[in-house]
Parts: sequence; structure tokens; C-alpha cells
Amino acid sequence: MEFRSFLIKYGEIGVKGKNRWKFEDVLIRQVKTALRKVDGTFDIVRQHGRIYVDTDGSADYEDTIEALKHVFGLVSICPVVRFENRDYEFVKEQVVRYMKEVYGTQQKTFKVFTRRIDKDYPGTSETISAELGAVILDACPNLTVNVREPEIPLHVEIRNEAVSIYSLTIPGPGGMPVGTNGRAMLLLSGGIDSPVAGYMIAKRGVLIEATYFHAPPYTSDRAKQKVIDLAKLVAKYAGPVNLHIINFTEIQLAIYEKCPHEELTIIMRRYMMRIAEEMAKKTGAMALITGESIGQVASQTVDSLVCTNDVCTLPVFRPLIGFDKQEIVERSEQIGTYETSIEPYEDCCTIFVAKHPVTHPDLERIRESEKKLADVIDEMVARAVETQERILCTAD
Ligand code: ATP
Ligand code: MG
Repeated sequence: MEFRSFLIKYGEIGVKGKNRWKFEDVLIRQVKTALRKVDGTFDIVRQHGRIYVDTDGSADYEDTIEALKHVFGLVSICPVVRFENRDYEFVKEQVVRYMKEVYGTQQKTFKVFTRRIDKDYPGTSETISAELGAVILDACPNLTVNVREPEIPLHVEIRNEAVSIYSLTIPGPGGMPVGTNGRAMLLLSGGIDSPVAGYMIAKRGVLIEATYFHAPPYTSDRAKQKVIDLAKLVAKYAGPVNLHIINFTEIQLAIYEKCPHEELTIIMRRYMMRIAEEMAKKTGAMALITGESIGQVASQTVDSLVCTNDVCTLPVFRPLIGFDKQEIVERSEQIGTYETSIEPYEDCCTIFVAKHPVTHPDLERIRESEKKLADVIDEMVARAVETQERILCTAD
């Protein structure tokens, strides 16, 4: 069966009235962006509260579906057969042709659901459903009717301008279209967690900006490339991601030199959050995002999170906070970041880790220790922000 049209559906909860238009506008924009990567011509049609993606037949079916599956806000994608000839006999022929081509000789149950949007069309929804059902039963001996739990819900929609038939529903990623919910700054490392965290917040409609703390020569160019690759993978869903690369070496060395070694990680994390917050404010991001999860490592115990959070004034989104590592790994496999995340390039945090980091840091003591940096740190932070390198990461 050749599909030249796709009905795209979104979850409507909470998107009523004026919000609905805004939501649909952003959704359509994101669909257009996603389809730019697919060869072919597309036309997006908004009709009677429905959104269709129409093609001229040149676009590859699988590529189109694959692109649409990356658009947050889409709950489902239904390949549709649409034709303008509304003559009843023609409709019957098309319905039979559809069932034969899509289901072949498969033994399945079906039910016809008719929507008569053109109220002048002869018959009622019930009689049309019954008659189309009878025609299908006649023509397809492998199919039977089940009105309670049909395996094939065959939708026939009769409108003034055309008739649509569909029965296939391909799940979309759900969520909200990116751009309907502000912007946030993701602290993106080369690990497994932070790309998943970015994905989850983007899924709620938030535009993603990212900051990576790079510590050359302790972290290699390859480690930086890995983060760029991860940003590009997140961009498949989130749209283009501006990645800000901060040279963190000087700050790490200063902490290493002046602060107690068991507190290195916590103090370093506090500077990461401070700088990420500055970057957020510069870029219009209203919140921070991290891949932290309670208890995963010493710097993510509740006491440690209290110390890290202490320097933040913006809200910090930690979507993985209650996830087990295995659950995060599964998510990263699903979204396609896992293979890149496990590439073995060192992370700046692993170089400067103490043998016995504090797991229950005391906030007052950490603040005290940081005072040892007082005469150099402001200048270093300013330099780190000024010398940032910005890379626009788009999906390949
Ligand atoms: P991940 O898989 O995200 O690297 P992790 O278990 O290694 O997580 P940590 O190193 O403690 O955790 O980092 C916690 C969070 O801090 C990360 O999820 C990320 O958001 C942020 N982060 C850590 N290192 C960096 C870095 N070099 N650049 C930017 N953000 C970082
Ligand atoms: Mg990490």
C-alpha cells in the first residue's frame, strides 16, 4: 500500500483554547524541521482540528516515519489513504483494496469506525460502517468482525473534500513539542546519564542548551568530540543544541592545590553549577538540568546534593533522581545514546577524584574550604566563561 498522507495526533490534555493554537504551531514547526532530513516534498495540512503530513509520493515511507518518531508532542502517527472521489461505490472499492493490500491473507478481526464529518453525505455513520463491514467480509475471507476488541480498527472519515482510511497506529514519542516550555541549560558530560536527562526535559517541550566542562590536557580532544556526538544525538529529538565548552582546567587545578582532597569533587561540582548558571543566564535558560540520581556516586548522596544545590539560584531539574542505573541504561539504549556514552574516553571528573571522597559532606565546612580559593577564583571563573567555545550541534 502506498501512503501519501500521515495523520499525526497529539495528546490534548491541557492544550485547550488559545494554548492549543500555540501548541499546534510549534508542533508543526518541529514536524517541518524533522522532515527536512527526509528526501521528498511535504505539505502540512491542518483540517478540522486534525494535522496531516502529505507527501507527493517521492518520500521514503520508513524515513518519514522515523523522522516523525523523533518529534516530541506526537502521540501517534497514522498512515492514511486519502482520495477525493467520494462516490460510495468507489469508497467501497478503496476500502476493500486497502484491507487486501495492508493485511493480505492475515487472519484478523476488524471493526469499521465511520466518521461522517460531511453531514450531507448519504446514510448514517452506523449504516456506512455496517455496509463497509459487509463488503470487506465478502471480499476478504481471512477477516472476521469483532466489535468489542478488533485487532484492526478501520477508520473511515468522510469529509467534504475527501475520504480518509486508516487503521495503523505507530506510537510517537509523546511529550510536548520542543519550544512550548522555555529553555534550560543541560550540564552535559560524556557519561550515560546526562544525555538521558536532557532528552527527558526536552520531551516536556523545553529547548536545550548545553555546557560541557573540558579539562585539557587531562581530557582529550576525543573526549570533547564524544560530548559533541552526544549533543548531536540529543539534537535528533531536541532540535539543534548549542554546546558551550568551558575550559575548566585552571579551576580544577586550583581546587586540587588548595582544597582538601576528599572534598574535591563536591567543590568542583559547585563550580560547575555556578558556571552553568552563568551560562544559563547569558543564553536565556531558566533552569539547569543534570543527570544526577540519588546515591549513584559519592557526589550524589543527599548530603552531597544539598552542597551542590546550595550554589544554585535557578531551579535544577534532575529527571533521573529516582532512577536506578539499569533503568537509565535502558533509556539510553532506547534513545540511541548508549553506544556513544560508553566509548572509553576519560571524563574530567575521573582525573581529579580522591581515593576517599566525602559521602556526607558538611555544607559549612565546604564553604570554609572554598574560601581558600577566594583570591583567584572569581577571575578564573570569569576567564572560563569568556573563553567558552560554542558549537551548534545538529542531528546528522
Ligand atoms: P554522567 O553519566 O552524566 O556523566 P555521572 O554518574 O558520571 O553522570 P557525575 O560525574 O557525578 O555523574 O556528574 C553528575 C552530573 O553532573 C552529570 O550527570 C552531568 O549533568 C554533570 N556533569 C558531570 N561532569 C560534567 C562535565 N564534565 N561537564 C558537564 N557536566 C558534567
Ligand atoms: Mg559523568
